[in-house]
Amino acid sequence: MIKTEKILHLKSCRGRKVRVVREHYLREQVPCYSSLCQADCDNDGKVLPGDLTHYVVPDVGVVVDYLEILEFRELQGIIFTQTACQAVQHSKGRRQYNRLRNLLKDPRHDCVLFANEFQEYSYCPREKGESQEKWQTRCVYSAAVWYHNHLAGMKDIVMITEDRDAIAQYSSLNSGVYVISVQDFLQNFWPELQAAHELYSSISQALQEKESEGSQKEFAEHLPAEVLEAGIKSGRYIQGTLNVSKHRAQNEASIMTEGLSSKNTDLSRGVLVYGVKNRNRAVHGDLVAVELLPKSEWRGKVTALTESQGDEKSGEENESKPMPTGRVVGILQRNWRDYVVTFPPREGTQSQSRNSQRILVVPWDHRIPKIRISTQQADALQDHRLVVRIDSWESTSLYPNGHSVRVLGRAGELETEVQTILIENCIHVPPFSDAQLREMPVNTREKPWRMDPAQVAERRDLRETHLVFSIDPQGCEDVDDTLSVRRLAGGKLLELGVHIADVTHFVPEGSLTDLEARTRATTYYLADRRYDMLPAVLSADLCSLLGGADRYAMSVLWELDAHTLAVNKVWYGRTLIRSSYQLHYELAQALLNGEEVEVPELSELGPEEKDAKLAQLTEALETLTHVARHLRAQRDRGGALELEGVEVRAQLDEERNITALVPRQPLEIHETVAECMIYANHWVARKIQETFPHQALLRRHPPPRQELFSQLLECATAGGFTIDTRTNKSLADSLDQAVDPQDPLVNRLLRMMATTAMSQALYFSTGLESQDQYYHYGLALERYTHFTSPIRRYADIVVHRLLTAAIDMERGVDSGKAIASHKELEGIAQHINCKNRAAQRAQKLSTVLFQCLFFKERDPQTDQGCVADAVIYSIRDNGVLVFVPEYGAKGPVYMKDREGQVVAAGRDGSCEWQSGSVRRYPDHITTTSSCGTSTFRVFDHITVRISVRSTHCHADSLNLEVISSKPHRSAEPQQTRSQGRSQLVQEVVRLAEEAHQQAQEKAARRPKLSKEEREFCQSKTPNLYSLLEEVRELALMDLEVVAQVCATTA
Ligand SMILES: [Zn+2]
Repeated sequence: MIKTEKILHLKSCRGRKVRVVREHYLREQVPCYSSLCQADCDNDGKVLPGDLTHYVVPDVGVVVDYLEILEFRELQGIIFTQTACQAVQHSKGRRQYNRLRNLLKDPRHDCVLFANEFQEYSYCPREKGESQEKWQTRCVYSAAVWYHNHLAGMKDIVMITEDRDAIAQYSSLNSGVYVISVQDFLQNFWPELQAAHELYSSISQALQEKESEGSQKEFAEHLPAEVLEAGIKSGRYIQGTLNVSKHRAQNEASIMTEGLSSKNTDLSRGVLVYGVKNRNRAVHGDLVAVELLPKSEWRGKVTALTESQGDEKSGEENESKPMPTGRVVGILQRNWRDYVVTFPPREGTQSQSRNSQRILVVPWDHRIPKIRISTQQADALQDHRLVVRIDSWESTSLYPNGHSVRVLGRAGELETEVQTILIENCIHVPPFSDAQLREMPVNTREKPWRMDPAQVAERRDLRETHLVFSIDPQGCEDVDDTLSVRRLAGGKLLELGVHIADVTHFVPEGSLTDLEARTRATTYYLADRRYDMLPAVLSADLCSLLGGADRYAMSVLWELDAHTLAVNKVWYGRTLIRSSYQLHYELAQALLNGEEVEVPELSELGPEEKDAKLAQLTEALETLTHVARHLRAQRDRGGALELEGVEVRAQLDEERNITALVPRQPLEIHETVAECMIYANHWVARKIQETFPHQALLRRHPPPRQELFSQLLECATAGGFTIDTRTNKSLADSLDQAVDPQDPLVNRLLRMMATTAMSQALYFSTGLESQDQYYHYGLALERYTHFTSPIRRYADIVVHRLLTAAIDMERGVDSGKAIASHKELEGIAQHINCKNRAAQRAQKLSTVLFQCLFFKERDPQTDQGCVADAVIYSIRDNGVLVFVPEYGAKGPVYMKDREGQVVAAGRDGSCEWQSGSVRRYPDHITTTSSCGTSTFRVFDHITVRISVRSTHCHADSLNLEVISSKPHRSAEPQQTRSQGRSQLVQEVVRLAEEAHQQAQEKAARRPKLSKEEREFCQSKTPNLYSLLEEVRELALMDLEVVAQVCATTA
């Protein structure tokens, strides 16, 4: 080892120049991470394959400015030098550096880090008078030459650089080491990778433009990091995430100040940041430091309805009194992401010359400021949406600068809009790569998959001893749970079994498939399609517990006292099962009801055998129902909330009109299956928490914040009901009481509001919280986790691994694998929570997209489908919020417009606009005009006309306008009412099919699918089942409730 000195000239983030002398040790052995290595390098971890035509060594400037291009997974064999990595760290900051580190860590990217400055023969000390840039380039070139020699000339090395002098100087120095520009590199080696070419020209253009910035200050400078840190510590500045108001993005933003509220009760409602100047270049989502303004400058939030409003949480909205107001003094962390944008309408751009090629594009998300990008395609792409990234926002610029990444397609087209939804929610679902698919087991006709004899020997075999069956919605492909029940000890004992697909057997921890599944965290369900978390060979085949097929499972078996149903013991373990029946809900319920039905699995049998089998199955279903009722009653006593299901139960008592809201027959069997799954999840939670008290993944549902119930309470009071929100039990009981026999919607709306007030259920590591925080409020269970859906939720995969480790430990088996530490687990939990929220938002947005597509083709003035009944559930200053049960839509209805006209209802209820005034009361709103006074109360049914508010740059939204103060066709029976819904379903199906067909036609025309098309078609057909489920749920309750119920109880 050789010791030298290395002199560094660093620039600190405050701009100070520092000269640092470091001892520098050089070694002969520095790993090359190439599989071609003949020199016995200690190549641990990721290794570059040997079968590439060349390796790529990017220069410092390329890594600093064009990292995004190097991130393309198609680019293989990239060697990042230590020199380049350090340069990124110094000149681009932590965010970009972390990005590079993640790239290096990710096994899906074919790239490695070479510690060139520690390698004796590749290191070159800086010469006197040599500029930093020249020296760095020389270092990288020297590293490239080293590789070529180290691999004995077996591999060509391509160094890419944007430095013309370097190309001239080095390109003919060594054969086998090529020095070319990024553009030449892309053109020669990746002529087909259009996206990379576009990204290159967009970034290089942005870099050129950057040099010609103006110098006039538009904003105050941000304070240096150490000043911010000290200020936050002393309490002078407040730290928080900037949250721009959706409806008043121009002026209103706030930061939530978690943790600080205890010190200063004034701040519990957050800090308002009013106006663009005070926001000082912070973008929605950034972590900022805020300084409070003097009290005399504090202001309140606006409380009137604005366009596209209606999905806010209650509690803070009605606030108009001044609140703490501040200005952003610095940014602690930028949280920029990819943004979907559109060019502004043509007439709006006359002021900014199109020749300048610098255009202000309009982000799809209202909360994001306009972004200035350089492009020559503004005219060609006028109607298109594209993806841009922000590069910088200088104090001299009114807008941030960015560059375009790729073109999505024409605005308004289904695929463009769906991709927009995915990108805006940071959902990245590329097709599974070949390398991932190679990890998968094979199951084809020629080579059918068979069980491994070693596994057969190791697992408990339930195939002969247990009657196992599944109950799912009709048409379900991915069966991840099955059930069994049998009597033991001459009927004194019952054995209940839940058997879940053994996904972790096929997905080893750390494999490429595992990493992809972890990144996705969940299967994404949109209105017309789904994106699976796991490749289809697992999700729809080997991990699907299909009838008659031998499958690996993870089982929980409870031995219960047949009389008291008390648990004697619980067995957890890996098993072999063969499901005897693949039932659907309606069939299982029919069997329970004693109806004559055909069970497909028995259709071939003779009458006697058939009857015997049928009796056996029916008895199992009856026993299961009996057990489930008991379990449910137990939880009910604890205060379990049935936020989505009560409607279903209430319908059993009354026969007449409620069914209008419930499109399918509510079946007890749904609850039975759900209860068994909840039970399994609960007992697995107990097991892993007891074995790993500080590193088990559980799911908790914190009690709601009482102030969020204010809308519910106001609304209930207005309707003459009393709701007690003190505990989950009192809430559940009082919700049960709050029924208007004349109008079943009242109870539903109240439940909807109760659900909106709920917190989200969250995954967490048990090391994070004390045990009294584990409680699941909605389910009334002291411990809970997710175990039963490993095909579509990554949390369940983590839990399966924990359970396996717990079982191994109990048996004294050393698997040799350490389980994740608390810190790692908490990281995973946060990631999954975040992806789940994204999945919910995307699902909600895609449903709105389809609602809009449905109404867009109709003329609201003539089409009766556009007129619907709506219920008022909240009163605002200038209007009301309503719920439209027929279409599951929710939104504002204005009683006063911008011109000061108000809605006046005639004697027959019909409404027209007149000049007049509105007055708001707690439980009603009145309008007064020359026609007299009209009153609209909470829970009133009114008639609305639905149309689509189309905007070029943003998502379409529904526009609701009151046309009568009377209910719409109130006396009509359910069939006509639910027609709108079934029509909506048909429409959605038609659109989805058309889109699919178009994609197929396109594919047929062109032999090679574009990346986007492969993405769109990932799940082969639009999944009709999930689609119908979606629309059903959508009609059953409002969307937020769906999302929340999925999150809290599913
Ligand atoms: Zn080597």
